[in-house]
Amino acid sequence: MSEVIYLDNNATTAVAPEVLEAILPYYREQYGNPSSMHTFGGRLAHDVQRARAQVAALFQAQDTEIVFTSCGTESDNAAIRGVLEAYPDKRHIVTTRVEHPAVLSLCRHLEKRGYRVAYLAVDNQGRLDLDALRQAIQPDTVLVSIMYANNETGTVFPVAKIGEIAKERGVAFHCDAVQAPGKLSLDLRRIPADLVSISGHKLHAPKGVGVLYIRRGTRFVPFIIGGHQERGRRGGTENVAGIVGLGRACELVLQKGEKETHYIAGLRDRLEQGILEKIPEVSINGDSEHRLASTCNVSFSYIEGEAILLKLSEQGICASSGSACTSGSLEPSHVLRAMGVPFISIHGSIRFSFSRYNTQAEVDRVLKALPPIIAELRSMSPFWANRPK
Ligand code: PLP
Repeated sequence: MSEVIYLDNNATTAVAPEVLEAILPYYREQYGNPSSMHTFGGRLAHDVQRARAQVAALFQAQDTEIVFTSCGTESDNAAIRGVLEAYPDKRHIVTTRVEHPAVLSLCRHLEKRGYRVAYLAVDNQGRLDLDALRQAIQPDTVLVSIMYANNETGTVFPVAKIGEIAKERGVAFHCDAVQAPGKLSLDLRRIPADLVSISGHKLHAPKGVGVLYIRRGTRFVPFIIGGHQERGRRGGTENVAGIVGLGRACELVLQKGEKETHYIAGLRDRLEQGILEKIPEVSINGDSEHRLASTCNVSFSYIEGEAILLKLSEQGICASSGSACTSGSLEPSHVLRAMGVPFISIHGSIRFSFSRYNTQAEVDRVLKALPPIIAELRSMSPFWANRPK
């Protein structure tokens, strides 16, 4: 297979060379435990602290508000469960129908434990109605958990406004911002979120490390209870290499700033325009105005997304399907379903997602490969043959 064109960066990203360089010493000679009394281990506590400051800078927050976790899913679980446990008398949560399973599956689980959950609907571009949010908040609502940007479509939610609404009503606001770093501002002086989740492997740090930001004064009961690490808010020996890598990755995001975001959006737009010009009967999913720079979710009507992915993969092009294929059954994406994407389009939905390491030449190769793939699959599709003309 020729060289891989990796356009699945919302799923995971390559570790940045600068990050790899920063973390290697912790897998070689610096293997100590930061909680040790001896200098060999104990000095690593400074390196963890430096990384904490680098992450705090991304959020414009205090170092003490940063808790390292193992991934975005843990951060989301810790945020939601941590607030629920702090307010045992309150039993109602507000979220949306388009959250990542790290939030959605937990909410469904909590419903079985006696919590009530309001799942806010979205419109056909994946947008929320803020009046519906206001109406959904009840006297015993304990938490609003709403993502910053959707991982499938890239639709960006107005999290500053959402935070203000939650604050006015005295309800904690958790924001799953896993897809935001490098693409959206995470300045928490402007976004009144009480808890925010991010994940290392989405911003060119390794897998196995995440962050939960907890605003000072937020009531929170630790989810993982053990040692005194992370000021008692998350037990477990620190993943020093991962933490150092995540700190460096946050520093790179800040250094590269908006220039990088524009670069990524340029690639995304080039692909999108090319697809719209070259291929009939396609539609772009997500908010046309407020969308992640990285994300292009496109429906090729009348064919199966999985077939497109396999054909692309044969040519070394990695993308992802809007449908999650679990245990052999093809379930259409809950996000696209919530948006009311028609049956004939939902199954043919593909997500291309970009990073700083993609190039225009790669986009052009995809634009060359894609039209014959779509034409071939459509030539075999009874839905295409019988489509209304
Ligand atoms: N939240 C969102 C929006 C995501 O996109 C993801 C991962 O795709 C997660 C949470 C889970 O993060 P992790 O893979 O680090 O557990």
